[in-house]
Amino acid sequence: METKATCPYCGVGCGVLIEHDGARITGVRGDPEHPANFGRLCTKGSTLHFTARPETRLLHPELRATKGEARRRVGWDEALDTAAQRFAEVIKEHGSDAVAFYISGQLLTEDYYVFNKLMKGLIGSNNVDTNSRLCMSSAVAAYKQTLGADAPPCSYEDFAETDCLLVAGGNPSYAHPIAFRRIEDAKAARPDMKLIVVDPRRTDTAATADLHLPILPGTDIWLFNAMLNVLLWEGLVDTAFIREHTEGFDALREHVREITPAVAAEVCGVKADDIRTAARWWGEAPRAMSLWCQGLNQSTHGTHNGAALIALSLATGKIGKPGCGPFSMTGQPNAMGGREVGGLANLLSAHRDLSNPEHRAEVARLWGVPDVPEKPGLTAVELFDAMHEGRIKALWIACTNPAQSLPELERVREALARCDFVVLQEAYGNTETAPFADLLLPAATWGEKEGTVTNSERRITHVNRAIPAPGEARADWDIVCDFARRLGPLIGKPEAARMFGYAGPEAIFAEHAQTTRGRDLDITGLSYAVLDGKGPQQWPFPEGASEGRARLYADGRFPTADGKARFVVPTAKLTAERADARYPLRLTTGRLRDQWHGMSRTGKVARLYNHVDEARIELNADDMHLRGLEDGDLVRVKSRRGEIVLRAAASNEIRSGQAFVAMHWGANALNSAGINALTLREFDPYSKQPELKHATVQVEKANLP
Ligand code: SF4
Repeated sequence: METKATCPYCGVGCGVLIEHDGARITGVRGDPEHPANFGRLCTKGSTLHFTARPETRLLHPELRATKGEARRRVGWDEALDTAAQRFAEVIKEHGSDAVAFYISGQLLTEDYYVFNKLMKGLIGSNNVDTNSRLCMSSAVAAYKQTLGADAPPCSYEDFAETDCLLVAGGNPSYAHPIAFRRIEDAKAARPDMKLIVVDPRRTDTAATADLHLPILPGTDIWLFNAMLNVLLWEGLVDTAFIREHTEGFDALREHVREITPAVAAEVCGVKADDIRTAARWWGEAPRAMSLWCQGLNQSTHGTHNGAALIALSLATGKIGKPGCGPFSMTGQPNAMGGREVGGLANLLSAHRDLSNPEHRAEVARLWGVPDVPEKPGLTAVELFDAMHEGRIKALWIACTNPAQSLPELERVREALARCDFVVLQEAYGNTETAPFADLLLPAATWGEKEGTVTNSERRITHVNRAIPAPGEARADWDIVCDFARRLGPLIGKPEAARMFGYAGPEAIFAEHAQTTRGRDLDITGLSYAVLDGKGPQQWPFPEGASEGRARLYADGRFPTADGKARFVVPTAKLTAERADARYPLRLTTGRLRDQWHGMSRTGKVARLYNHVDEARIELNADDMHLRGLEDGDLVRVKSRRGEIVLRAAASNEIRSGQAFVAMHWGANALNSAGINALTLREFDPYSKQPELKHATVQVEKANLP
């Protein structure tokens, strides 16, 4: 038998056909009908069936009565009654803001929706944030500041239409492989198409580029501003588009007046002529588009990185047309779905803003509750800081591994240890976060649950359940709703039974769709039946529509009060931490081709270690020589926050003075924590996304006993 679903790894959102016998998953192949991949899968997607092994899964709820005790197996009733009791006690004694949910872009949209509704609609706090905060919240803020709404305007089919693709802060060859295959196809079909890659490292993507700009970490704004300077100087801007469809250009023009290619070349560490070439290719191309990812987002000025890049599209009028526009890729499979339901501490359902009283009233009316609290919730880093200070007493984590993935891990682990009651809802019981859980709840995962996901190009896919979940594992939405119905009466909110009495995920999707009526992402024309009949669809898809919309802003109108897009004058800061004598190397982080996130899934597939088989720090040969290091030596990597031991590997992909470690590796025989023992928690003021991409370190030979 074959069941349609999507790959649960990256934001490309490839369609898969799960092969199974009704009890066990036996294989997987790409769905030839899915518009994201047309049957192709990368190494990770094509080995998914090897991750579906019950013996690697969490099968039963486990609970401990007090900290320090071992957890014991319990039934679902005891598990969820205890959770409801403990959360109710905290809420009564310390208030609603003393509890929090920390969820994940791995969850399906229906799961995200009920978590969000439970915290904001029933409990009465906005303390629900997600690991998507670490991945794309700067892109959200940049889109909203410039285009007026969190809506990537492009489609994958634009890769085949563009004459110039500028990839900045992304390595799609590894991180979004099937999207990159489409870029390669486009270049092969039209050799005149220009590919420009901005990345401190000569990645696999950069190696295929017509022009690689190996800028110093954190200097992207200077580069984009200098490109705009050239576009202005050489008359390559679209003055009619700027006049009719934008606001704020005069201020930005003044700002970039002094940022010439020569000035930016000094700051960015690249040739001024290469900046001019990039600007000319962009400006002279009939159709140009940009593609960005974590390299821009994970920065203390990630929002303005995005805004400065978007300004290139607006200044040249290259938006809303085939092969044009600023395109942010999401790292996770359903980060976009989480954004749609407002599953972040500062958002509300259907791209509404928490700070807008009308939006709060609309959502309260839709949910049938008196109000939605005004006070913004705690974002990821703030949340764990608050827990460290004792202000968060009960935390519910779902489908993510903060003890591996958040920056400044020692502090995160201290925070988890100090929290009175930690619930972890997970498919796998052996993550770095699991030891901190007082209650462990087994969740269904890929192939075992039904719902929807939205990929990077706004395309919603109905994913289906192929087999029953193993042991006592349950679907995430089902666990949340059961907990909500038990919690409600304990906190004086019997309406929980009505609010969370869904018959199944389809009913949740239908309610979510109704919240989008009249909004920019209106999907009132979608249902599971429509998605099954027509296939995956891009939003918006309002009632009466016959198909989704591939491209936004074709009419030059933007979802702002006056219909015009905005130019933003960026704050041209550098990285939060500077190299110095004690910490002279600039460490960047990124992805491997064959691993994904914290490896709780890919780490279980032997063949995915064939590409890179262990954690290592890549250093330029000069830096290796300076330290007397040989390939394969064990080295101690120290930052101001912690240290880890890794093997050193010489690399010609990076410049002297820089280092690279893949983000995936967690605790191992040599280390109690992974790469994020070194990273820092400083974050962007608008998006609150931390600067996971950069830290300064020292590397020295490890003399282990
Ligand atoms: Fe999965 Fe992404 Fe690979 Fe597609 S490109 S198969 S979504 S990991």
